[in-house]
Amino acid sequence: MQTALEPIYLDYAATSPLRPEAQAAWLEHVHLLNPGGQYSLGRKARAALETAREQIAAALGAEPIEVIFTASGTEADNLAITGFAHAAWNNKQPVRLVASPVEHPAVKEPLQLLAKHGAQVELLAIDHDSQLGQLELLDQPAAVATCMFANNETGAIYPVAELAARAAATGTPFHVDAVQAVGHVPVDFHQLGVTTLAASAHKFGGPRGCGFLLAKRSPAPQPVVVGGGQERGLRPGTADVASAAATAAALTAAVAEMAATADRLSQLRDHLTAGIAASIPDVIFHTPKKALPGHVHVSFPGAEGDSLLMLLDQQQICAATGSACSAGVNRASETLLAMGVSEQDARAALRFTLGPATTAAQVEHVLAVLPQVVAQARSAGMA
Ligand code: PLP
Repeated sequence: MQTALEPIYLDYAATSPLRPEAQAAWLEHVHLLNPGGQYSLGRKARAALETAREQIAAALGAEPIEVIFTASGTEADNLAITGFAHAAWNNKQPVRLVASPVEHPAVKEPLQLLAKHGAQVELLAIDHDSQLGQLELLDQPAAVATCMFANNETGAIYPVAELAARAAATGTPFHVDAVQAVGHVPVDFHQLGVTTLAASAHKFGGPRGCGFLLAKRSPAPQPVVVGGGQERGLRPGTADVASAAATAAALTAAVAEMAATADRLSQLRDHLTAGIAASIPDVIFHTPKKALPGHVHVSFPGAEGDSLLMLLDQQQICAATGSACSAGVNRASETLLAMGVSEQDARAALRFTLGPATTAAQVEHVLAVLPQVVAQARSAGMA
C-alpha cells in the first residue's frame, strides 16, 4: 500500500534515476586520468573510453568510430543541426533545413538561430493522431532534414527510417533526435539509415550531463566547439571517461531488460489510460497507438496544467505538463498546438511517464486520487 510519505515518481521522460550498474561503473573509472596521455596511465584511461564506445556501438547497431561523446543530448542535437548547416555554408550551398514541427527545443532552437542567420527552415505538418504530412518537403535537397524518433511529450513514435530514405534520395543528411527512444525501444543506427543520431544517458539510467552523437564517417557535421582533436575532431575536449563508462553500463542494462520492461510498462500504461477514461469526464488523450511504452499524455479541459501538477505534488505524485514552463507561466505546448489542439486544451495537459520502478500499486494510487485532483483544478478554473 502506498504511504503518504513515499513519492510516486512518474516523470521518467524528464530524467531517470541512476541505475546501480551505472553508479558502479562510474565509481570504478572516476580515478582514471587523461585518455590522451602518451603513457601507461593515459593508455589505461583510453582503453576504458574505447570499451565504453564499443559497448554503446554494439547496443545501437553502430561502429565504435561513429560514437562521439558529448555532455548532453542537447549538445549532440546542436552539433548535428548547426554542424550540417555550417558544412553546407562552407561549401557555398544554400542552407535549407527541413524539420518536423514537434522537435524538442534542443533541435528547434538551433533551427531558429540558423534562420536568424539566413537559413531557410521548412516544417513538415502533423495532425492530432501524430501523422506527419507535407513529406514532399523531403524531396528537395537540404543541408539537413530532421525528425525525432519519439516525442518527449506525447510519446509518439515517428517513421524515421521512411523519412530518412526519402531524404537520402536527394543526398540530404538526416538527423534523428533519439533521446527519448534509446534504451526504451529497439534502435539500430545502420538500419535506420540516418546520418546522425542524438542520445542522452540520463534518460535510460545513466548519469546526467553525458550524451553522445552517432555520426557516420561521411557526411559529417562541422564541429561547433573547436579545440583539440578529440572525438574525431567533432567534439574536442578531454573526455569524461567515468561518465562514458557509466553511460555504456546503463545502456547495456537497459537494452538487456528492454523487452520485458516495455511489456510490463505498456500494460501499466494501458491500465492508467483506461482508468482515466473511465473515471474522469471530458478528457483528450494525445498519446497515439504507436508510442513509447511508458507515456500517457492527456488534457483535462478546464483545468490548468500547473494546478494539476501542484495538487498532484501535494499527494506526493511527481508528473509533468510536458511543455517547458518559464517564469512560472504555464504556456501551451508548441507540440500540441502544432497537432491542432486548442490553446486552452493544450494548457490543460498532463504527462505521466512510467519507468522501471513503477508498480501497479502506484498506478492504482494515481487512479484513486486523480478524479478529485482534476475536479479541484477544474473548479479553480483557467487563469
Ligand atoms: N531531445 C529530447 C527529445 C529530449 O526529451 C531531451 C530532454 O528532455 C533532450 C533532447 C535534451 O537532452 P539533455 O537533457 O541530455 O540535454
